[in-house]
Amino acid sequence: MKAYYVYHVLDPDEGEIVMADTPGQAKCRADCYDAGDFTGMRARRAPEFDGDGGPPTDRDYLQKGWLVPCARCGRNIYSEDDAHFDRHDRAYCSEACLAGNETTPSTTPV
Ligand SMILES: [Zn+2]
Repeated sequence: MKAYYVYHVLDPDEGEIVMADTPGQAKCRADCYDAGDFTGMRARRAPEFDGDGGPPTDRDYLQKGWLVPCARCGRNIYSEDDAHFDRHDRAYCSEACLAGNETTPSTTPV
């Protein structure tokens, strides 16, 4: 399978990486497919995410210069930040989030 970046033309920065054999299959597998506006969706190859066939992990995204939300509090983590990873390679913004100590989700507007 190959990696595709699937996005909507109205929101091209909010796409996702999907593993699929064809662009059409990638669009069908994307979460945003449920939004219903299939005609506005695009899929382009993202060869930097080709690999073992599994979906990329947070660690993969960060290593390739993407940002990911903290798996606990949702704060953006950038590739240059000192992210913390659990055994599933989910990224956390701090030791406290990794340890699960931060119980209140951040509601501060960005
Ligand atoms: Zn966090």
